[in-house]
Amino acid sequence: MSENCIFCKIANGQIPSEFVYESDNVVVFNDINPQAPTHLLVVPRVHVESLKELKDTALMSELLIAVQEATKKLDISDYRTVINTGKGVGQEVFHLHIHVMAGREFSWPAG
Ligand code: AMP
Ligand code: ZN
Repeated sequence: MSENCIFCKIANGQIPSEFVYESDNVVVFNDINPQAPTHLLVVPRVHVESLKELKDTALMSELLIAVQEATKKLDISDYRTVINTGKGVGQEVFHLHIHVMAGREFSWPAG
């Protein structure tokens, strides 16, 4: 738990939130500023600053399993996953999270 980290507070229940899905070590909730009709954040309960600091391979698996389970639960078959790593590419919250977006068209590689 890192003090003043918003995702630590959400993931550990200090800020009451509704989880789309949760497992022992991962929670999934809606992004507050959605960039698509469905925009989920898949977040480890433990504080990890970014993908660079993620060493726990079991947790890596659990994060991707949470993507599968949350999308299955919402009956979403097509979705985009994004992990921003570092200020230079727009990471704003320095607690690792996977964006899962669905329900609109995406251009590739831009946008
Ligand atoms: P990133 O730019 O990859 O660090 O993404 C941070 C994301 O967290 C943004 O999409 C924000 O809209 C989202 N966000 C920030 N604060 C909250 C919050 N309290 N609840 C849900 N999503 C949040
Ligand atoms: Zn945190």
